[in-house]
Amino acid sequence: MNYNSTRDASVSISFEEAVMGGMGSSGGLFMPRALPRLSSAELDAMPGQSFPELALRIISPFVDGEIPEPELADLVAGAFDFPLAMPRLDKNTSVLELFHGPTCAFKDFGARFMARTMSYFAQRKGQRVHIIVATSGDTGSAVGSAFQDLPGFSVTILYPKGLISPLQEKQLSTFSGNVRALAVSGCFDDCQRMVKSAFTDAQLRSKLPLSSANSINIARLVPQASYYAWAASQVAASGKLSGAAGKDRPECVMVVPSGNFGNLTAGLLAAEAGLPIDLFIAATNSNRPVPEYLESGDYRPRDSIATISNAMDVGSPSNFERMQAMYDLGSLRQRVRGIWVSDADTRAAIRDCKQKTAYTMEPHGAVAWKAWQSLSPDILEKARERGIGDVQAVLFETAHPAKFSEVVRQELGFDPELPERLKDVMSKPDNSLPMACDYKAFKDYLLALPQ
Ligand SMILES: *Cc1c(COP(=O)(O)O)cnc(C)c1O
Repeated sequence: MNYNSTRDASVSISFEEAVMGGMGSSGGLFMPRALPRLSSAELDAMPGQSFPELALRIISPFVDGEIPEPELADLVAGAFDFPLAMPRLDKNTSVLELFHGPTCAFKDFGARFMARTMSYFAQRKGQRVHIIVATSGDTGSAVGSAFQDLPGFSVTILYPKGLISPLQEKQLSTFSGNVRALAVSGCFDDCQRMVKSAFTDAQLRSKLPLSSANSINIARLVPQASYYAWAASQVAASGKLSGAAGKDRPECVMVVPSGNFGNLTAGLLAAEAGLPIDLFIAATNSNRPVPEYLESGDYRPRDSIATISNAMDVGSPSNFERMQAMYDLGSLRQRVRGIWVSDADTRAAIRDCKQKTAYTMEPHGAVAWKAWQSLSPDILEKARERGIGDVQAVLFETAHPAKFSEVVRQELGFDPELPERLKDVMSKPDNSLPMACDYKAFKDYLLALPQ
């Protein structure tokens, strides 16, 4: 499989080069030159498969032999050694729980596959790699946890001291061994600037083999297509994945709370592979350039606005470039409906969902709940007109409610129970190091690391 860049169609590189390179030199994002398509037999076999088996079928065509199949199977099984769940909320609605990984957010799927893939390629060449990553929340803990104890890798995470939630800070500061967090006296943008300065510092790079665990890495995107396949298999139940909506299986709508649009783009890859997903709903908070683009045809990225669903506070989503490379406006509109949800409506949605279904949503999942409440009457009506009786919506819940307990407590009056793995984190010692908001100090720290 060859990959090109969204900004340079003449680029032609391998999966390994795309993963280890992260981003094209012109700033473009890597995409497969031809999108993989599964056969009807492969699709129809999926409902009987375990999640790692099914993920292997989805991921394998993208890797295309660059990791031999038995080793890729082990890698996938190791990355996805935690469960998924999809409880039913009502007649038409289920919730896909993507928070059962080690750091309790869906970013574990992408980060764990990417870490193992980078490790496979680096070890073959005897490379040592130092990863630096700036985080404003969930990414740092997913990346740190994914690289913890992986041979050949060390990781430095920069976070803005005191500006992330106490639970998030605890998750970051308790890393040890080959992963270390720096508590920077500055804001997220300062952390990001220090990381960027390191990448453009030729003297530092000649001494330390630096890499990034960037969220636009293709190895973070592709594995996310797997849980769409799993969810579509649950929706089809005893029906046929290769069949027609309304005849062989229910119509299937995926409702995806979106920020940087990696999750939604992975869904588009799954649909192109042949998975029976009839419609996507791209649900954002007030950071809404994509829903506006779908509505008006005008794309206006801008600075992000702070909201209560803060993992989606992205004003200029990176993966929009991939969506544009895949579809023109008309084709995108056939597949995706956009909608944005205010903080006030998100809070009301947490209460509404609890009252109607007894289910506790955190703010990101609540954005999906509100989006489906708003659009479902029209979608169900249109399906009836086409003679389709059964429509099933899958709402993505991207984080555990305990990660956003403050908002949940304000709306529902109780604290969600901390899962065991977060309780473990709370009892570990803090190992983070204070770091001045100063590139020189950061560089000295990196140069003093054991090589
Ligand atoms: C990162 C994140 C999102 C947004 O996902 P994208 O792939 O960036 O659209 C949504 N919810 C949570 C909890 C996240 O951490």
